[in-house]
Amino acid sequence: MVGPKEKIRQTFGLFTLLTMLFAEHHCHEIKQRGRIEVICGSMFSGKTEELIRRLRRAVFAKQRVEIFKPSIDTRFSDEKVVSHDSNSILSTPVNTSESILLLTGDVDVVGIDEAQFFDENLVEVCNQLANQGIRVIIAGLDMDYLGHPFGPMPALCSIAEEVTKVHAICVECGSLAQYSHRLVAGNKQVLLGEVKEYMPLCRCCYQKAMKEKQDVAVVEKK
Ligand code: ZN
Repeated sequence: MVGPKEKIRQTFGLFTLLTMLFAEHHCHEIKQRGRIEVICGSMFSGKTEELIRRLRRAVFAKQRVEIFKPSIDTRFSDEKVVSHDSNSILSTPVNTSESILLLTGDVDVVGIDEAQFFDENLVEVCNQLANQGIRVIIAGLDMDYLGHPFGPMPALCSIAEEVTKVHAICVECGSLAQYSHRLVAGNKQVLLGEVKEYMPLCRCCYQKAMKEKQDVAVVEKK
């Protein structure tokens, strides 16, 4: 049997624990500390949605937020980081990673979308920002359509405090997908596209699809 005193102690313990958890969470949101977070995955995996979610929370926490994206990505809008569900935040399109350094004002958080399209120097730029006390949140494709590591993404994953890999759903079998399979012809690494051009596949279905593509190419050559 638990006596009334023990009950009070238990309740008080729980209350203290909850207070501590809340305080820790709260501190995490508002404390000014430089760090790098990477959100990576295939197309349609919700990378931009996750980036926007984190940036919105930072805005709620009264932090000053700035967002950049490569000017190459003009699929939806020049001025906004737009995700597939139209949840958007205003952003600045830039040509090079150095421009991010030049254009970053007095902010607490810097968001970078479609980081795979930036040059390798983005690694140094992100380190510099984080060393200045800025929280840097990067979203990007970790692999290109051939399944190779994409641009500065692998290096960014190495230097980050936290890496989150998000997944799409394989359109063939419903498993978690990590490949962006290109449905149209073309060997260029960068080919901006959406559902018409790409589909998310799991490892098994991706291998199958690539083999079929090769077989078709062999037949066409003959
Ligand atoms: Zn599959």
